[in-house]
Amino acid sequence: AAESDALADGVLTVGTNAEFPPFEYVDDNGEADGFDMALCKAIGEKLGVEVKIENMEFASLVSSIGSKIDIAAAGMTVTDERKESVDFSNPYYEAVQYVIVSADSDIATADDLKDKTIGVQLGTTGDFIAEEYTSNVAQYNKAVDAVNDLVNGKVDVVIIDKNPALVFETKFEGKVKAIEGAQFGFETEEYAIALPKGDTALADAVNGAVDELKADGTFDELVKTYIEA
Ligand code: GLN
Repeated sequence: AAESDALADGVLTVGTNAEFPPFEYVDDNGEADGFDMALCKAIGEKLGVEVKIENMEFASLVSSIGSKIDIAAAGMTVTDERKESVDFSNPYYEAVQYVIVSADSDIATADDLKDKTIGVQLGTTGDFIAEEYTSNVAQYNKAVDAVNDLVNGKVDVVIIDKNPALVFETKFEGKVKAIEGAQFGFETEEYAIALPKGDTALADAVNGAVDELKADGTFDELVKTYIEA
């Protein structure tokens, strides 16, 4: 099979935004860890290349593919707009946006979101949804800063993906609650690894490696360790 330029140097540089637990976060040693990071390291092992992680702003990931980074693994939702600039691997995880509010809030339906101040991570699908409800969108590079401002009363609502929402609900226990997106009519999303446009050799290699990791049980192990733990 043709070899991908991205793999030719023996190093696969993976971009992420390590502010999105449990998919990516900075661990106690200052290293990027999380489900996506472990998955990419396992992919690298299957492909016999070294994996290097570049931690950057989420909003810069797509435009950095092909220059600063080879691929991006960041709990990134497949969207038509992103597909104009990058290709995606086969989806590896189903997600949905959740709504985080203060523990005593009455916010419960999509109507309640209208004209609220909504905190989001810049450039995410939560950001795009928030803009449908209000012009008061507060955009953050770090999700935790949005939740801090919710606790401080600077924003009314945070819209973010389910699993990070559940992590923040635990982290800020008693102060905030995470509400299922289905209650607001939000549709399910799919995470995939973003790849350089047109590099079918790399797409085949990544998809093949993930298929092997699913077949040998590694993928399920990582889900148990990082997401369901
Ligand atoms: N899944 C969301 C998106 O792709 C959020 C990802 C993230 O914040 N890392 O926009």
